[in-house]
Amino acid sequence: MNDARSTRDHPRPTLVISKCLELEACRYNGERIRAPFIIRLEGFVELRPVCPEIEIGLGVPRDPIRLVSLGDSPRLTQPSTGRDLTLAMTEFTDSYLSGQHDADGFILKSRSPSCGLTDVKRYHPNGQSSGKGAGMFGGGVMERFPHAAVEDEGRLTNFRLRHHFLTKLFARASFRAVKASGSMARLVRFHSEQKFLLMAYHQGELRRLGRIVANPERHATADVLDAYEEHFSLALAKPARSTSNINVLMHALGYFSDALAAGEKRHFLTALDHYRAKHLALSAPLAIVQSWIARFGQEYLAGQSYFEPYPIPLLELRDSAREVH
Ligand code: SF4
Repeated sequence: MNDARSTRDHPRPTLVISKCLELEACRYNGERIRAPFIIRLEGFVELRPVCPEIEIGLGVPRDPIRLVSLGDSPRLTQPSTGRDLTLAMTEFTDSYLSGQHDADGFILKSRSPSCGLTDVKRYHPNGQSSGKGAGMFGGGVMERFPHAAVEDEGRLTNFRLRHHFLTKLFARASFRAVKASGSMARLVRFHSEQKFLLMAYHQGELRRLGRIVANPERHATADVLDAYEEHFSLALAKPARSTSNINVLMHALGYFSDALAAGEKRHFLTALDHYRAKHLALSAPLAIVQSWIARFGQEYLAGQSYFEPYPIPLLELRDSAREVH
């Protein structure tokens, strides 16, 4: 989709989301989690809401459930009734996730014994704490979708993590369209548009992806697309380091250097210093380069996904995802 305030055409990623995040009051206590970011996302992504606990037949409100460590794998139980929900949740997770092959990402509720990704409390059978781990559904997501954009709503309040999540989400959706086309020409164009992004994320994978696209051994297009997908996912596995972002932004400055007044350059370099010192988010120096791209009509940089990896309205910094209503 192309938003009026965006300069690039963006795909509409498919995003599986815990239903209690803003969308439905389906928590055990009949509440929902306030998450303004989700509301903003609605205009730009295809949301697929799911509540695993409702899906296995638990009502609203319901008695809380928890993960109990027994042997190697935890059990999902409801202490007040003594019910063991492990099999029901495992079966639902398997069957639901097997139908989500086109999902580009997931936003799941933190700390939930079902949806949580990393921070879910576990208990010994005697009720004492036994550490933390993944929830049952959240664990299934990470196992089956190791390369998707996967986060919980708590971590997404951090700008750096949210920028990485959205970058990966929209990049995966763009690549999915290229792969579906089966076109080598589209892959070549896609790769050239990702050059600055890959420079920031992973120089080694940038070179590897260049060799895959060049395809000197004349592999079949389907094989080239598979190899590209694998290494593109590896490139985007972790957020880009700030030093890499600074290198890329300095490289971009080179495209405008001769046309800029000394004061403009100084303003940009000061913004980079503030970004390096963590006083400013990446969006600040990025916005300066975006304004130069528009002002000087720099077509090559305008085509680079790095400068607008997702629709601009999603860049907003202020958000609180934890209030309950
Ligand atoms: S955390 Fe997951 S299972 Fe719990 S209410 Fe939200 S969507 Fe449902």
